[in-house]
Amino acid sequence: YQAKKSLNDWCLYREELEQAYIRRVQIEQRLRQALSLGQLTMVFQPQVDDVKVVYGYEALVRWYDDELGQVGPDEFVGVAESSGLMPALGKFVMETSIREFSEFLGAQGKMWQLAVNISVLQFLQPGFANDVLSLLSRYGLSPKQLVLEMTESLFISNFDDVLAVLNELRKQGVRVSMDDFGTGYSSLSLLRTLPLDELKIDKSFIDGLLDDHKVQNMVASIISIARSHQLELVAEGVETEGQYLALMAMGCKLFQGYYFGRPAALAVGPKSPH
Ligand code: C2E
Ligand code: MG
Ligand code: MG
Ligand code: MG
Repeated sequence: YQAKKSLNDWCLYREELEQAYIRRVQIEQRLRQALSLGQLTMVFQPQVDDVKVVYGYEALVRWYDDELGQVGPDEFVGVAESSGLMPALGKFVMETSIREFSEFLGAQGKMWQLAVNISVLQFLQPGFANDVLSLLSRYGLSPKQLVLEMTESLFISNFDDVLAVLNELRKQGVRVSMDDFGTGYSSLSLLRTLPLDELKIDKSFIDGLLDDHKVQNMVASIISIARSHQLELVAEGVETEGQYLALMAMGCKLFQGYYFGRPAALAVGPKSPH
């Protein structure tokens, strides 16, 4: 019976692996086509200060495929990274975010900041820093308005090259944010090696904030790390007033989450007639 059971388990496991593989191949094929046909879009989620006033937006990529339906970036960004599609995806994200955001700002007359998620692979593309800086100047944004959000999802061997590009951009005023802080294996050591301006507390900490003392202590630690390193701190994934108030009481001053606003297309066009 045992042998039969484990054979069964193994077959199920093999089947799951096969399904996952088929899904990846499908995503890769459809994504390659979607990128060349310009079928992806960007949405933007507001970032607010301690009195809930907007100071910026984070750009988030969206992809709806006719066969696969809505596919989340958590799934397809990884596929892009491992299949050579990241340069094309990154270029689309950077160009579209900066262009749409600058049109939006033009209509609003504000100096809001734009946060863009970057795969560390993009820093290794030749000319990346120059491309970013010339896009900013073409669309009339100051480098000081751009924040690049990085995660530690990928292990990078030529880390020195990444550092050089980061430093070049920071010299011009672009800021660097460590996304999903506290969830990776090496958050603390990255804090030492990366030139950073901001930490974003991951949503998983915010989820547990109100009913888990351990999580509360961890958030308090992250807030104190940010303070002692003179880094901005953003709490992401804030969904309730209770979470917002608890974070405020702990000294957190910048927020993002459904409680304040969901990611949405930016409304551009003639100013409203009333
Ligand atoms: P992230 O950068 O940490 O983005 C935050 C994610 O949390 C977004 O999911 C956002 O829609 C979601 N979120 C924000 N507030 C709330 C909330 O209150 N409740 C809940 N349940 N969710 C909230 P999304 O857009 O699915 O993106 C997932 C991840 O995919 C991002 O995590 C980021 O790592 C990556 N990603 C998204 N867009 C891009 C992109 O343009 N380029 C790259 N390289 N990665 C991207
Ligand atoms: Mg982000
Ligand atoms: Mg995050
Ligand atoms: Mg994330």
